[in-house]
Amino acid sequence: MALDDNDIESKDDATQSLAAEFKAPTVTRAYQCQCGRPVFLANSRCLACQTPLGYVIEQLGVVPLQPAKHDGAEPDTFTVFGDTGGKAYRHCANLMTPSACNWMVPAPREGDDPSFNVDGLAPGMCLACSVTRTIPDLTVEGNGDRWLALELAKRRLLSQLLALKLPVVTRLSDPVHGLAFDFLSNMPGAPHVLTGHDTGVITLNAEEAQDDVRERIRAEMREPYRTLLGHFRHEIGHYYWDLLVQPTPWIDDFRALFGDEREDYAAALRKHYDNGAPADWADRFVTSYASSHPWEDWAETWAHYLHMADTADTALSFGVDARNVELASDLFEPTDLWQPEHPEAVRFLDFINGWVRLTNVLNELSRSMGQPDYYPFVLPRTAVGKLQFIHLVIAEQRERGTQSAEAVPEVDPAPEPEHQA
Ligand SMILES: [Zn+2]
Ligand SMILES: [Zn+2]
Ligand SMILES: [Zn+2]
Repeated sequence: MALDDNDIESKDDATQSLAAEFKAPTVTRAYQCQCGRPVFLANSRCLACQTPLGYVIEQLGVVPLQPAKHDGAEPDTFTVFGDTGGKAYRHCANLMTPSACNWMVPAPREGDDPSFNVDGLAPGMCLACSVTRTIPDLTVEGNGDRWLALELAKRRLLSQLLALKLPVVTRLSDPVHGLAFDFLSNMPGAPHVLTGHDTGVITLNAEEAQDDVRERIRAEMREPYRTLLGHFRHEIGHYYWDLLVQPTPWIDDFRALFGDEREDYAAALRKHYDNGAPADWADRFVTSYASSHPWEDWAETWAHYLHMADTADTALSFGVDARNVELASDLFEPTDLWQPEHPEAVRFLDFINGWVRLTNVLNELSRSMGQPDYYPFVLPRTAVGKLQFIHLVIAEQRERGTQSAEAVPEVDPAPEPEHQA
């Protein structure tokens, strides 16, 4: 198809601007202690200078903390380091449990009721822990480690959703549309626990937190990739489809791109498991499972978008520059996009092509260590249009989220006794 230069920038322009405009990450993934040492998403103390650290939603990252010095401040309250008069926080009640949660919770201010609680959160718990509804039975050996692995992956997921300004609302706040995670174990005589999503409730089989079990299933299913984070990103995709696509004008474009989701879902899955994916699936879908039904195509493609965005943010935060990478494959072109005329189209194409270059290097690095490929997928051209669609759905939400701070729970000075765990 010939490109009209009046409508879209030529390929040369697009190549020239490659990654040039896309200089900054959405959110930094390179966190730093007050002593200058790099610290990481799961850290609760700097190993170099012992400064306490915590994840603060308003900062969208892990920050150093100092004891709060407000009048009447409790000994276990902190402010962000260097922000002496600022907002006070406490560690999440799960810091000392096997889940080792390092997220911070707003602390009561002077005059607040001692039974103070933040609206929509479980008592003493952070947003990440408040969306977990069922944890594995900790009296069972090994479940502490499984719970930790699950929560680490879930906190990574949530930190990205918050950075993208996607709504993260607990089931305690909104019993109909809120999020709840159930980490269930197989029980003798009970049906096998299936990983899935149902109107805001995400169920994960806790056995998936065990490397040997997950790897066995991956090999049996002939999947190139199977991780807890991947499960969460897929299931949350179903959640946001219910929220952001199904009841909105996006639904018509969704059906044009992904297909009609009113097709019998159970029959489509049965067909997929009985007959396998169509022979040409790799030309049309990010994974073979994505070919089973439009909902699964959406969830798989959504998960890939989150993988790509988080990896790109991390690379950019650490100053990794893949612009000089020699490529074995071709880059994508404006004609591969869903809306090549969109004002942000070139920027999005930069992102996708930056990703192609980056994963070329990352895959080679993995091979150098004898590890499986970092990104063991090949993006077909049709997936690029679907990814742009997802990008625009999220961008619209981000626009909205920046205007209202609805993703961040407000401190409620009046205790809400009904919000008991
Ligand atoms: Zn330090
Ligand atoms: Zn927590
Ligand atoms: Zn699914």
